[in-house]
Amino acid sequence: MLKALTLTIALLFAAPAQAAFCPGAKFIWEQGHGSAEGGELEDGSKYIIFDPEFWRELTPVGRKFILAHECSHAYKLEHRKLFSRDEEFAADKDAFERGVKEGWIRTDKHVSQICYALGTDVQSHTHPSSFMRCLKLWRMWAVHKNDHNNTKKRKRGNPK
Ligand SMILES: [Zn+2]
Repeated sequence: MLKALTLTIALLFAAPAQAAFCPGAKFIWEQGHGSAEGGELEDGSKYIIFDPEFWRELTPVGRKFILAHECSHAYKLEHRKLFSRDEEFAADKDAFERGVKEGWIRTDKHVSQICYALGTDVQSHTHPSSFMRCLKLWRMWAVHKNDHNNTKKRKRGNPK
């Protein structure tokens, strides 16, 4: 009981940080939701829902990735024209690029933690399988590391 109360208080204090991660979107804790969700209400206001149990399972990088993914769903209107599974990949790409740019995706371990956060879902009408999402993340990470190494090599070069 005390533990649950402590968690609730901790989550309440944490909420402003979550909201700041996706400015303008209302951040809502929803027990029993199962995971997280981002979108827009009929009046155009943006929201992100997070199940506190799901939140507790994730590492800081996993949390940031899911927040960034849901934030992309809430704001990237052009993605809504995509086929729903592609919309998921597009939100993953946004979150990945944001993580690299902001510096919270820096190591292989971070990518592993994000794959963990994506779970083990099989493909559905709306979502690609967790496996495919994870695979695409590793692919983006490999491309990023390759580009990064090439840039370093060029810096060491001696152009005439
Ligand atoms: Zn999504």
